[in-house]
Amino acid sequence: MSKPKFRGSGAKIAGVSLEQAFAHTLPGVRTTMAESNTSNSVAFPKLTGEQIASLEPLATRHQFRDGEPLFEAGQCSGAFFVVLSGAVEIVDRSDKESRTVRLHEPGEFTGDIDILTRRNAVVSALARGDVDALEVAPADVRRIIAERPMIGELILKAFMARRTELLKSGFKGVQVIGSARSREAYDLREFLDRNQVPVSWLDTDTDPDAAELVQQFNLSERDLPAVACEGRPLMRNPSVRQVADAVGLKRPLGNAVYDLVIIGAGPAGLAAAVYGSSEGLNTLVLDSQAPGGQAGASMKIENYLGFPTGITGAELTGRATLQAQKFAARFSTPSNVTRLDTADEQLVVRIDGGESARARCVIIATGANYRRLGATGRERFDGLGVYYAATATELSGCEGAEVVVVGAGNSAGQAAVYLSEHARHVLMLVRGDDMRRTMSSYLAERIDEANGIEVLYHTEIRSMDGNERLERIEIVNNRTGETRTVTTPAVFTFIGAVPCTHWLPPRIETDAKGFIRTGHAAAGSPHWMLSRPPYLLETSMAGVFAAGDVRLDSVKRVASAVGEGSMAVKFVHEYLAESH
Ligand SMILES: Cc1cc2nc3c(=O)[nH]c(=O)nc-3n(C[C@H](O)[C@H](O)[C@H](O)COP(=O)(O)OP(=O)(O)OC[C@H]3O[C@@H](n4cnc5c(N)ncnc54)[C@H](O)[C@@H]3O)c2cc1C
Repeated sequence: MSKPKFRGSGAKIAGVSLEQAFAHTLPGVRTTMAESNTSNSVAFPKLTGEQIASLEPLATRHQFRDGEPLFEAGQCSGAFFVVLSGAVEIVDRSDKESRTVRLHEPGEFTGDIDILTRRNAVVSALARGDVDALEVAPADVRRIIAERPMIGELILKAFMARRTELLKSGFKGVQVIGSARSREAYDLREFLDRNQVPVSWLDTDTDPDAAELVQQFNLSERDLPAVACEGRPLMRNPSVRQVADAVGLKRPLGNAVYDLVIIGAGPAGLAAAVYGSSEGLNTLVLDSQAPGGQAGASMKIENYLGFPTGITGAELTGRATLQAQKFAARFSTPSNVTRLDTADEQLVVRIDGGESARARCVIIATGANYRRLGATGRERFDGLGVYYAATATELSGCEGAEVVVVGAGNSAGQAAVYLSEHARHVLMLVRGDDMRRTMSSYLAERIDEANGIEVLYHTEIRSMDGNERLERIEIVNNRTGETRTVTTPAVFTFIGAVPCTHWLPPRIETDAKGFIRTGHAAAGSPHWMLSRPPYLLETSMAGVFAAGDVRLDSVKRVASAVGEGSMAVKFVHEYLAESH
């Protein structure tokens, strides 16, 4: 099958454009290449003779004839070639017309952040003229970045700047072809977006390019949503898992015994990954959806240290993921952990679908899951008008409409403020009679002052209705019983969360709500087997630690989750030292 050629809306990740997500990493990267030589020299530096010589012991020498590919989009991780003679053309074939991204000259090198993320290359490289080049294997490039600060920083900055430039240049990435009325299309877009895979969406209801493709590939209703991924045949109605395989998010885990397996990649898991991998632990991070966790759903975190103007959760956690990958932490998504066993004095982490990973230590950082509304009909509209995050992915179709936010905590407040900038009107439904008991005062004040937000107290949703998507809800005043119908395409729900611990073995003690007991709270457990008491963040099962929102009495903040994740690694070292 020939490769589909089409346009879509610009690639995005986690509700913000990728350009935004990586722009903070480098001052100057926001400017275009034409505008700024500085950004050009950051993205495409020329290595000195001395720097090239320092890479040589790790490299293999290759010759390519004019027109021969060095690597192709869709292949594993791309590759790092230093051009010695001739030139290498980087080609983007994601749009109708293929185009040259860069012509690398002698002294320049190929590659971008996917060498760190271990995902498939998104562009191709072709020899222009006869080329002599040095190839350094991705694992060695990662080691250079982690261990040789001078050249490592130059390479890492170049990789990040290149991705930013690529996205600014109209790169389309993976293209999801489907209807706004399709939950499967929403799930695929959300999954790719939250995993920071550049994705564009072609809406078959409104986009002529999508209609053209449907015709070109003779796509029936059953084939939609379809996914076009560079270097692969068009995927018809693929599962999330199939798409994850295609873009390189999910690779076989093999038989390695990891020093540390981290379950959950929210702020706690990511902090543990950065500290664990940077301190030499062979670290694997598993998440059932994507790195970011609850924080990844926040459009603006304003109380995290060091960001006076706030930062989106996607940006914060996107950077943390790359940081952990820089230190060689390995990520696998989607990897939903369903069991924790022991075998041969090792911990065995079982994953949905039959895979498993062996570990010497485990950190559980599975946080909490959104609580669902009890309104009649709600299940029909999850992803089709009922959302648990307010990012650009959820916003499509809400412009100019009245939208509803349910909840009275900080996450509901943040969502209401963000949505008021995009929707015509925001109706905020609060079950009790006061927001200030549960929401930070700065947010409550912003809501009071915002023109487009109306707060209804003592109000709940009784039922939801619509055809293929949510169209209207019935709300009820829980004191007077008075009801009203609201026409709306979207309800954003922030009514708390329950800990993700249903899969734990009975040996790991929780309280009645499922929050994990650690340290002195786990000390009296009949399951505790050692003569010493559990470490501060250790559960009732020795060598298994818990950090972040999943832990009993945790603070439920990004900063505290990050603190606990990093602290947990200290106890991992102590446990590993004593078990030798
Ligand atoms: C919309 C919103 C806005 C917020 N804003 C702020 C803010 O401004 N400031 C602030 O300090 N806090 C904020 N919070 C709270 C903060 O995000 C959380 O306290 C923090 O994310 C907790 O981090 P965590 O790593 O413990 O867990 P989580 O962030 O919940 O991450 C847990 C991860 O584990 C994964 N997981 C769960 N079960 C499994 C399993 N079985 N197998 C594999 N993976 C699994 C999940 O997919 C998830 O990625 C906000 C929360 C929300 C929802």
